[in-house]
Amino acid sequence: MNQSSGLYKHKARKRFGQNFLHDTHVITSIVSAIAPAQDDHIVEIGPGQGALTAELVPYCQRLDAIELDRDLLTLLLASFSIHKGFHLHNQDALKTDYRELHQGRPLRVVGNLPYNISTPLILKLFEYTDIIADMHFMLQSEVVDRLTAQPHSKAWGRLGIAAQYLCRVERIIDVPPEAFDPAPKVQSAVVKLTPKDSSKIDLEQLGRLQALVKQAFAQRRKTLRNNLKGVVSDAQLEHFGIDPAARAETISLEQWVALSDGIEQF
Ligand code: SAM
Repeated sequence: MNQSSGLYKHKARKRFGQNFLHDTHVITSIVSAIAPAQDDHIVEIGPGQGALTAELVPYCQRLDAIELDRDLLTLLLASFSIHKGFHLHNQDALKTDYRELHQGRPLRVVGNLPYNISTPLILKLFEYTDIIADMHFMLQSEVVDRLTAQPHSKAWGRLGIAAQYLCRVERIIDVPPEAFDPAPKVQSAVVKLTPKDSSKIDLEQLGRLQALVKQAFAQRRKTLRNNLKGVVSDAQLEHFGIDPAARAETISLEQWVALSDGIEQF
């Protein structure tokens, strides 16, 4: 497929976060990390001009592509409707009900995401981890830093805690701006998120954890005692081996889970 041929020349749109991948080595690395299999059901967010789609759709049973930009539909249909499993949805990935796409096989979600919506989209997809096998996303490198962060770092916060509570998180490759057209101003990276056994995920527990963490990180430079005033007492923190004078970014995932479960029981 000649994506930049005169017939289909598409001018990249900033408001849709369009930075099209053109580095074949990067595309190959992403596709080999995904390793599509014949019975896979893939959901691709933001197929754009089809750089990843072209390498995935022939190798899976079904690929649902969700693209918001109406002007890309003709090109996508012309390129891929030859594949029986290709289904194009002209809709907003932030407003998509992923359960409606689910047909039994856990979904494999992929995308070189528009960076302006990547964090809310990932948070939304966290509501569907029970029907998702894995997710591979190209993101702004700084977002991958937050997803993979560990305690005692500036990147450790709400996003990493929710991600690591729900998923195994792996940084796959770092990608320079030149891999895209147009080149973004930031470094990028690909991350793989593999949801943990959904039977072990308690959504109420997650809700409590997220509310507590939000409050605890409200002002990063303040102590837990200050951020959690009126919510958790010093005695409760100490009961869980947490120093009330510590900052939220020093607390591990296990400690957050124990604390958010524990304060319920006080
Ligand atoms: N996958 C292509 C590639 O790698 O070259 C395009 C990636 S580009 C960074 C992001 C794509 O997401 C664009 O095609 C853009 O139109 C689309 N997009 C932007 N916002 C979207 C949304 N809310 N829902 C679905 N697609 C969206």
